[in-house]
Amino acid sequence: MAPLTGAKVIAQALHDLDITVLHTLVGIPVADIAEEAIDLGIRVIGYRNEQACSYAASIYGYLTGRPGVLLLTGGPGIIHGMAGITNASTNAFPLLVLGGSSESTSVTKGGFQELDAIALLTPHTKTAIRPSSKEPTAIVAALRTAYRIAWYGRPGPTFVDLPTDLIMEPSPADRRVDRPVISVSPPPKPGPSSDLITSAARLLRSSSAPLVIIGKGAAYARAESTIRSLISTHHLPFLPTPMGKGVVPDSHALNTSSARSAALKNADLVLLLGARPNWIVHFGEAPKYRPDVKIIQVDISPEELGRANSLGEPALSIFGDIGLVVDQIKAELGDWKAFSEPRVVSDPTAASSSYLDLLSRGAATNSAKTSEAAEKMTPVSGQLIYQRAYHIIKSTVNSLSPPSKGEIVYVAEGANTMDISRSSFPLEQPRQRLDAGTWGTMGVGLGYAIGAWSAYNLPSRTKKIIALEGDSALGFSGMEIETMARHRMDIVIIVMNNSGIYKGDATSATQWKEMQDRTSSSETAASNLKDRVKSLRSSSLLYETRYEHLAEMVGGTGFFVRSEEELRTATRKAFQEKEKVPCVLNVIIDPGINMDASFGWLETKEKHRGGGQSKL
Ligand code: ADP
Ligand code: MG
Repeated sequence: MAPLTGAKVIAQALHDLDITVLHTLVGIPVADIAEEAIDLGIRVIGYRNEQACSYAASIYGYLTGRPGVLLLTGGPGIIHGMAGITNASTNAFPLLVLGGSSESTSVTKGGFQELDAIALLTPHTKTAIRPSSKEPTAIVAALRTAYRIAWYGRPGPTFVDLPTDLIMEPSPADRRVDRPVISVSPPPKPGPSSDLITSAARLLRSSSAPLVIIGKGAAYARAESTIRSLISTHHLPFLPTPMGKGVVPDSHALNTSSARSAALKNADLVLLLGARPNWIVHFGEAPKYRPDVKIIQVDISPEELGRANSLGEPALSIFGDIGLVVDQIKAELGDWKAFSEPRVVSDPTAASSSYLDLLSRGAATNSAKTSEAAEKMTPVSGQLIYQRAYHIIKSTVNSLSPPSKGEIVYVAEGANTMDISRSSFPLEQPRQRLDAGTWGTMGVGLGYAIGAWSAYNLPSRTKKIIALEGDSALGFSGMEIETMARHRMDIVIIVMNNSGIYKGDATSATQWKEMQDRTSSSETAASNLKDRVKSLRSSSLLYETRYEHLAEMVGGTGFFVRSEEELRTATRKAFQEKEKVPCVLNVIIDPGINMDASFGWLETKEKHRGGGQSKL
């Protein structure tokens, strides 16, 4: 019988923890762990870059509600994976990171891929440890501790350093018999103290303009049923953050998303459920909020509480699990209602109270703007715009899968691609939207799509993953399309191709066309090329790159899309793809040279010189 190595002990421990998917890019020495894991029936997904791999593992954790597991090689493998580890920390995603490291005996001598990963990762993880010895009990204890800490309390990344000798060498003695079996129970849920619940209910009752902000912590906590009941029973207007969408259906009458600014500006009381008062909600500060706004913050992380207090106004900080806290607030509120009737927020004629009037007016104006852009036919000149393209994608997808079923997960990244998609794709179910998150991280998209696919495509359930990718965003991890094909993942990637970062670069579209036109004389082509290269802006990308060939390269289907009809057909075909292959729709979008380059949610205008088109 083969000797019991550390690799076997580690793989068996992962199996005991009910880990069914391992995200990795193998090398020496961690390949042995991955191979042992495969033999135990764990689905091992091998990526092309640790960056995408680490994003995938972390979003897998967010979507499944249990730590995703990331297996990295040492040194540079850890460095590449830092992207996803720090992103997981910032976003509070549960993630167990296992990293190979050089032989214990070569430490400080310049060993192969030597790096003090514990020192590096300590500030970015909840814990970073190394098993105290090569004994199976020590290895298993370290894994159990790290897994538990990633999961318990506020979720986040943890790290276990695994020296090569620990992984590869046979155990000091054969311990097949006493190999410890481990398990970790789901995290305990802290309940709130009752006096805080009484105070919260009192504040809500005395508010004339309450607003519930729902963040991705509420989606992670799977608190949708109690929050839906809170909103509907007590007629409380609510606002989801980008990844908090769908905890309460976007179609709910009290959704203030289309009156976002009015809701924030006029609320006298904010109940913050699973969202930190950071830039995403404008820090809870004036002038976006009333200077006297009161904030009730609910969080599972005690350290987080009180951050909403920067205004010095009385705020309430409730430590506890969102589900339990909301249950108790509801019990305390009884049959009290904030407004006598649940108003249709976007219907100005229905509102009665002045706060609801304001919300209704804001919503009506914004909805009109959005639908005008969506309804606008593409001009004869032929260039699609985001809103119109999204309208077509959405209506096609909805006709194939009703939104109420929540069978689709949208990944969205890129500046305009992400911003505009937020309102273009209303959601009815939680955990259906994955975007750049707390850090505004670009480059997460394909990793997130694979992570989501692996979280949701099980014999018991399947979901379709649609990744809306800016052409810049796609570039970060484009080669992961091969990972998708290899693992038979029928992910739909829709590239919103405006030939640039933020706004596109059509400044010299004609120049590009001429340059790319093989029939023009070589002198013209050479002079065009010179002019073109001189006029490149920092945000420019190659004009109309044929990204759809990425799908064809790996046996998937690519669609080059310019018109509404092409978009409709391609969306339908890609969605209904029967072969388990990725599809890429390369959608040519108006480069929008006259558009401001902005990151909508942030609402700051980034000045970009526009290559002669300096309207900005
Ligand atoms: P968003 O990006 O949607 O604004 P954030 O990531 O800023 O959301 O905030 C999510 C918050 O939710 C974190 O502070 C996290 O600690 C908290 N959280 C996560 N799970 C729970 C839970 N079960 N109960 C209470 N708070 C939670
Ligand atoms: Mg772009």
